[in-house]
Amino acid sequence: MKFLTQLIYDQPCLRVKRSLVQFFLSRAHHSNVRVRFAPSPTGHLHLGGLRTALYNFLFARAHGGVSLLRIEDTDQSRLVPKAAEALEDMLQWAKIPPDESPMTGGNKGPYVQSLRSKLYQEHIQTLLKNGTAYKCFCSEMRMELLRKDALRRREVPKYDNKCRKLPQAKAEELERQGVPYCIRLQLEHINEPFMDLVYGPIFHDIIQFEGDPVLMKSDGFPTYHFANVVDDHLMEITHVLRGVEWQVSTPKHLLLYKAFGWEPPQFAHLPLIKNKDGSKLSKRQGDLHIANLRKQGYSPEAILNFVTDIGGGFEDRDQNRVLTVDELADKFNLSRLNTHSCRLEVEKLGYFNQLDIQRQLRNDHETLQLATQLQSLVKSEFKERLSDSVAQEKILSLDYMVKVLQWSQTRITSIADLVSSKFTYVWVVPDNLPLQGLPPVASGYATLLNDLLRNVEETPDNYFNKEELSRRVKMIGKGHKLKTPAIMKFVRMAISGLQEGPPVGEMMEVLGKETTLLRLQHAKQVIS
Ligand code: GLU
Repeated sequence: MKFLTQLIYDQPCLRVKRSLVQFFLSRAHHSNVRVRFAPSPTGHLHLGGLRTALYNFLFARAHGGVSLLRIEDTDQSRLVPKAAEALEDMLQWAKIPPDESPMTGGNKGPYVQSLRSKLYQEHIQTLLKNGTAYKCFCSEMRMELLRKDALRRREVPKYDNKCRKLPQAKAEELERQGVPYCIRLQLEHINEPFMDLVYGPIFHDIIQFEGDPVLMKSDGFPTYHFANVVDDHLMEITHVLRGVEWQVSTPKHLLLYKAFGWEPPQFAHLPLIKNKDGSKLSKRQGDLHIANLRKQGYSPEAILNFVTDIGGGFEDRDQNRVLTVDELADKFNLSRLNTHSCRLEVEKLGYFNQLDIQRQLRNDHETLQLATQLQSLVKSEFKERLSDSVAQEKILSLDYMVKVLQWSQTRITSIADLVSSKFTYVWVVPDNLPLQGLPPVASGYATLLNDLLRNVEETPDNYFNKEELSRRVKMIGKGHKLKTPAIMKFVRMAISGLQEGPPVGEMMEVLGKETTLLRLQHAKQVIS
């Protein structure tokens, strides 16, 4: 493996290099896979976090392995209360639940770093004893001076490793005096690249860029790097799949494995996700929080398809089909992951959600679930206005919800669209009926509405469909000397308050006879 990694790394031709990486990856055999998603509970689960959790989940499923959730909460100053629980709930909702986690348990726990302090304390002793780590007594003030000095010289600040050379007796004395200290890893030169299962061989001689990193802070809390490596080892993680922003830290982690004498896991880094304009995604971007997407009516499948569509990792994927989690896992192939950073086209999320609504409507059970979801959305959105509607029961029935969903499935990208102003008429009488721009009717609007009312009333139930209704409306228009576009515009306004919208026959068919009549009566009252 080492030889091969070096060989690929030395290859001067980029194309040959890429092919060699692909070949290597397609041959790689992964057994007893254990992967982890290791977020810091500093806020809501966002799209980037979900992407990492998802690829870990898919990789585990694809290889019959285990995925676990580990909460990395060693930086106590950045914690958000209840964030860890909310994170796990979101993974459950997104249909990618971990096999082992703080809530589910498992035999490699605890799965929360703040509950593992004892393990870190034990393990730091190993490194102090074998001499790969040392106590550093440098004060905050000295560190600050080093920083300022470097900045003055326009250099990147780094620790000068002073305490590496501190004589043992001196260190003991300082400790006796109660001088606070942290514990650092002694970096050493790295001579060979490591194999990134996504990016191919990566070489980064970290000692040239950084001072010895802190493993244990003076308050006794481990740093991310230390806790992460100790936990990955103790939890028997075989593959680390994480964002590419951690790739520069991997050599440091590999040095830590070496210091312990442990076999490191394999590493695979996932490319950056950027906004459409190329800017970096921020965890604070509320529109990309999974909880918000959920609230806006996006389904787990739509979100998962959106994320994997950007990230790649699938062979022969049909872009016009929403794959279920199982299908995604079946088709997943790490060697097909994209390496270039990807830009989010949020419109595509709408597209996938529309495809997913259509998929759900092909399945009776899921149709009912969707209808129930829509029902509670309508109830909460139109609560007051529904209470005085005579047809309330009918409007709120699941049958009606299904009818509306089936009719609107090519017009909406989320069920939340159905409670927007474009669809208000489907549930309640319109707020206002804009008469401006309507064609004058010599016989008067009231007479026209009376004719319409009578005709709709007389339409037999088994003919209450868009073709027949549109034919009848046209005929009435003719009787009042109105051309088709003019009468359609009038009726559309009367039943929906909209100047533009779906064909009138369709609107009437979806509303049904009773509600169409109520809408026309309402228009008559308002207009006359
Ligand atoms: N706690 C780190 C994070 O917040 C985990 C990085 C890793 O997966 O190693 O992303």
